[in-house]
Amino acid sequence: MALFMKVYVAEEAGFCFGVKRALNIINSLHEKGHEVQVYGQLIHNRSVLDDLKAKGIDCIDSIDQPDPKKTLIIRTHGIPKQVEANLKKNGVKYIDATCPLVKKLQETTEGLNTNTPNTQIVIVGDRNHPEIIAAKSYCPDAIVIDSEEEAHNMKSSDHIRVVVQTTSDVDFFEHIISILENKTENLHIQNTICSATKVRQEAIKKLAPRVDGVIVVGGKNSSNTKKLYNIALKKNKNTFHIEKSSDLNDAHFTGKLKEFKSIGITAGASTPPEEIKKIEKFLNNLTSNIEKETNHGRTERNAG
Ligand code: SF4
Repeated sequence: MALFMKVYVAEEAGFCFGVKRALNIINSLHEKGHEVQVYGQLIHNRSVLDDLKAKGIDCIDSIDQPDPKKTLIIRTHGIPKQVEANLKKNGVKYIDATCPLVKKLQETTEGLNTNTPNTQIVIVGDRNHPEIIAAKSYCPDAIVIDSEEEAHNMKSSDHIRVVVQTTSDVDFFEHIISILENKTENLHIQNTICSATKVRQEAIKKLAPRVDGVIVVGGKNSSNTKKLYNIALKKNKNTFHIEKSSDLNDAHFTGKLKEFKSIGITAGASTPPEEIKKIEKFLNNLTSNIEKETNHGRTERNAG
């Protein structure tokens, strides 16, 4: 058991601009007495979604028949172009909380549509993620690639035009680009990874090798949290992904953490600051408990 444990929080972690903006929109409507419903999971964080639910704000999976008494909010990840067109056509009242940087990805993707022959448009990202499903709708001819293997298997083209998911791993994207460079003489790259993603990834790259263990906090279905976990794991094999502070209430897990002299914390862009504070507090309490246990052991030995 380590005698002292130092706890460090990465320089950049937790809520990003897009998530704060979406929550501000919803909370201010709620405070003004509007009834609100959100299309899809507003963000990929269970505790935030539970808080919204407690306020009577539900996330609905389909917007075919939204409740007409409620204001519909479009989630941060955006929706496909045709779905938005249908909302307008049907006169559905909605407020778009799509992150402006996700909107920018959609616009950039749409701008890649071209009549130039032998041009392949590529979206690098998770094809099952709502952000990428929405972005692809702006350029149906685009192909989505999400692995080195898929990049290698791509056919060569005279022109390749590329965009990338806002929450992609910066190093992974650079690697994919290096593969695509061998597939064309005309590679046109639009790096649409958002700045919040970049700074969070940089911060954990710096912190992870300097500590004995790393805790990554965020939804298991959160794309940017999974990237942070993988980046941290490459730098530190003692990396753990938890969703919320109560996941630490596990004796086996805390037993492991007690072995470390230092722990770093990072959190995905949809993790609230209160959750990071709770984890920091929990780990600091663990430190004082270690001291107490150690002192108690010493006293017992002295007494013996
Ligand atoms: S991670 Fe980036 S793109 Fe996604 S909501 Fe936050 S700021 Fe917007």
